[in-house]
Amino acid sequence: MNSYLERVLEETKAKNQCEPEFLQAVEEVLETLSPVVYAHPEYEKLALLERLVEPERIISFRVPWVNDKGETKVNRGYRVQFSGAIGPYKGGLRFHPSVNQSIMKFLAFEQVFKNSLTGLPIGGGKGGSDFDPKGKSDTEIMNFCQSFMTELCKHIGQDTDVPAGDIGVGAREIGYLFGQYRRIKNVYEAGVLTGKSIEYGGSLARPEATGYGLMYFMREMLKANSKNLKSKTIIISGSGNVAIYACEKAQAYGAKVVAMSDSNGCIYDPSGIKLDTIKEIKEINRGRIKEYLDKYPSAQYMENKAGETPAVYTIKADIALPCATQNDINLETAKLLVENGVWAIGEGANMPCTNEAIKYMLEKGILVAPAKAANAGGVAVSALEMSQNSMRYSWTFEEVDKKLDNIMINIFKACQNAASDYNYGTNYVAGANIAGFRKVAKAMRAQGII
Ligand code: NDP
Repeated sequence: MNSYLERVLEETKAKNQCEPEFLQAVEEVLETLSPVVYAHPEYEKLALLERLVEPERIISFRVPWVNDKGETKVNRGYRVQFSGAIGPYKGGLRFHPSVNQSIMKFLAFEQVFKNSLTGLPIGGGKGGSDFDPKGKSDTEIMNFCQSFMTELCKHIGQDTDVPAGDIGVGAREIGYLFGQYRRIKNVYEAGVLTGKSIEYGGSLARPEATGYGLMYFMREMLKANSKNLKSKTIIISGSGNVAIYACEKAQAYGAKVVAMSDSNGCIYDPSGIKLDTIKEIKEINRGRIKEYLDKYPSAQYMENKAGETPAVYTIKADIALPCATQNDINLETAKLLVENGVWAIGEGANMPCTNEAIKYMLEKGILVAPAKAANAGGVAVSALEMSQNSMRYSWTFEEVDKKLDNIMINIFKACQNAASDYNYGTNYVAGANIAGFRKVAKAMRAQGII
């Protein structure tokens, strides 16, 4: 690694010792930037990388709310406004008990490069809370969202920072958040949040965008390597928004998805997953994936065991699509996947593989579609939602889907070209980092030392 990069990495580690996920994300990016930084010695004088790894702003706040029993609860809320160099901060909100500052910072840092790759004018941010929506009533969810927005509304706006959904935040939560924002601000600012329902300014194809986009990217990556999706066996971790629509598009391309999961375990259906049943369990009933067996008793349910490889990754397949959460695939799991014949990975989730797992898979010649690029379809359609809001106009599903497909084609090309420019071959992980970085670096240089 270039000595400037090495120094910045060491300093970042020293400054952020309690933030392992953030350091993992920074290390993965900096490790691949050597050739670019080498070609730009002026970056060091401008402390460009030191500024790149330091968020412009971190907001952390108390979120008090009252549950159905009348008890007062307190959670912690966050918004990390990482980089506004190329546009308003943009990135989702995550409600999950594991949320902490390290996870918020890693997600916001990744978002900077992802948003740059979309080619659209959006900066990087992320937010959320350690609130656990599981098992909460609708009223409790609403109370929490209203309290969360009462503070968050001071820091966001359609030209400042535009949040959206992520784990635990779907159309229902966005609705409550938007309602509270509108009530407090007394303004109909549709573009302040994306992922809205269609009745009040949402975009068609936004729910499908991340999963579909992932498969458009996979299609392009496989095509560039003389392969395709037809008749390939696929395992998917997760059964939330990204997983469901990745499955839908994979099936439309003639692939056979044999397994999906949630945090408790996975279902294995060798005859192919019946997606309508998954949608009913997850999107309507908010149930557990195990309930799939009530309708298809011939399928198998495999429970996750603490400290062991998630059950879904023990199943043989051609392609694995991790669409649940970060660090789902460690080195041990990566070895098992390779042993089981997996030859391509599509990262639907953010940072689903550890850095060791990625390195191992690339060494073994596995095609890896990196999250920053492959799951950028969601934020890309969010940006299209912002455009539609400002034009006060709506595109049809087909129009949005076509634009999404073109964006994903361009993102793949950008990764491929950057990888090839810097002799990284089919290492699209490096390609995505470099392509995302170049645009942000140019904008940062142009705007001076800020
Ligand atoms: P959802 O909340 O809709 O679904 C999350 C899924 O992942 C659920 O099946 C959930 O299972 C599972 N999961 C969550 N946490 C864990 C865990 N710790 N261990 C095992 N399984 C877990 O979220 P999304 O589908 O929206 O997001 C999934 C991933 O995709 C995240 O990494 C997110 O950051 C990323 N992403 C999402 C985008 C979007 O547009 N929604 C855009 C780009 C990236 P359970 O129900 O049991 O918790």
